[in-house]
Amino acid sequence: QVLVGNLIGEDHANYVLMYNMLTGIRIAVSRCGAKIQKALTPEDFRARHKYSFDIVGNELTPSAKYDFKFKDYSPWVFRYLREEIFHIDPADYLLSLTAKYILSELGSPGKSGSFFYFSRDYRFIIKTIRHSEHKFLLSILKDYYEYVRDNPHTLLSRFYGLHRVKLPRGRKIHFVIMNNLFPPHKDVHETYDLKGSTVGRLYPEDKAAKNPRAVLKDLNWINRGKILELGPEKRALITEQLRRDAEFLKSVDVMDYSLLVGIHNMQRGNKDNVRKNTLKVFSPDIPSSRRPKHHSAPHHTPTGPKSPEAKAMRRAIHSSDPQRATVHLPDESPTAPEGAPFVFYQDEGGLRATNEANEGQDVIYYLGVIDILTPFSWVKKMESFWKGLKSDRHKISPVPPTEYGDRFFSFMKAIMRGGEGGERFKEDNGKE
Ligand code: ATP
Ligand code: CA
Ligand code: CA
Repeated sequence: QVLVGNLIGEDHANYVLMYNMLTGIRIAVSRCGAKIQKALTPEDFRARHKYSFDIVGNELTPSAKYDFKFKDYSPWVFRYLREEIFHIDPADYLLSLTAKYILSELGSPGKSGSFFYFSRDYRFIIKTIRHSEHKFLLSILKDYYEYVRDNPHTLLSRFYGLHRVKLPRGRKIHFVIMNNLFPPHKDVHETYDLKGSTVGRLYPEDKAAKNPRAVLKDLNWINRGKILELGPEKRALITEQLRRDAEFLKSVDVMDYSLLVGIHNMQRGNKDNVRKNTLKVFSPDIPSSRRPKHHSAPHHTPTGPKSPEAKAMRRAIHSSDPQRATVHLPDESPTAPEGAPFVFYQDEGGLRATNEANEGQDVIYYLGVIDILTPFSWVKKMESFWKGLKSDRHKISPVPPTEYGDRFFSFMKAIMRGGEGGERFKEDNGKE
């Protein structure tokens, strides 16, 4: 396990790692991006590009401050994911990741020991992952690619890159780059990480009262009597998307993922500045001649009744039959000049709460399905075995993927307005 327990910032080893990761990304991504677009081939899924950096430099890699090796996995596939599917502007991507280093600890790292780093403008997250997660992502990359291509409104984590840094003494660090679900420009007043499991899924309320950034869990949600306030239209769309996403995750045999829910209260606005003091900014050592010029990259997307997305959403709603037996999500990848107005990220980067009359409420939700790289492997089977001895096997979190996905989806339906409610779910699925 890498980097467990180190506070990011003063730790020099992490600075070197950051420098290496960002230098590698800068070179590898711009190299692929400089080539002319082409159609993806099966080989692109197997491709690996290796770079070797040192203080001298060579024709492929400019000189760097440290010696390290960098490996770029399936660069063309990720370029497609970024540009064609998720509508990330290539220049923004590079600029935001490599113009300045911003590190944040994002609470204490989870059990997995993964580290999270934010890009300069807070749009992207670098997450270090285990070797097993890395191998797993590569093994499902084709399925993932096809799934998100066909379901552009997916709530699944958006992967923009998969890389590896190898340090001189042989330590290998794997990492992915993904979307930050939370907005750069808004406070998130409450955060929940929901799995649809009730065992061990309580963050102590007394601690929560002292920490506005605490990541709360399923039982906090249920005990507080929260609901995801969405009117019939948005509820139908998100239910259908979550159903598909859970089916996909079942099909690739993963488990342990969660729905991350960030809640922004528009009346409270940004006056608490929850995020202040959590970010540490480092200036990198990029020669100023190479440093790209700053230009504003508007994060928010055009919304309102006339935005293309609002139209797509209306089309989607009106094409669904009255019984809502099937809900049609817009299938083509949305096109937009600036950013992409995906259905669930259309209101200031999130999804605005609505009442039964579909009128907007003073709350914006930031939602996504995260931590989707844990296959039901030997490790989890063992964990399931040991935990299963102590409590009811169905209530604990490491259950097989089919059961996990079904339970996840029924919980998500239960927490929405008009759903059966969290309490009911708790009764059906056991108490804490
Ligand atoms: P564990 O396996 O112990 O659950 P992990 O290291 O795999 O931990 P994640 O579950 O992926 O970590 O994420 C931990 C926390 O980081 C989440 O609860 C959430 O608060 C934050 N987080 C993760 N991914 C994102 C994201 N894409 N956008 C915003 N916040 C995120
Ligand atoms: Ca997790
Ligand atoms: Ca994990």
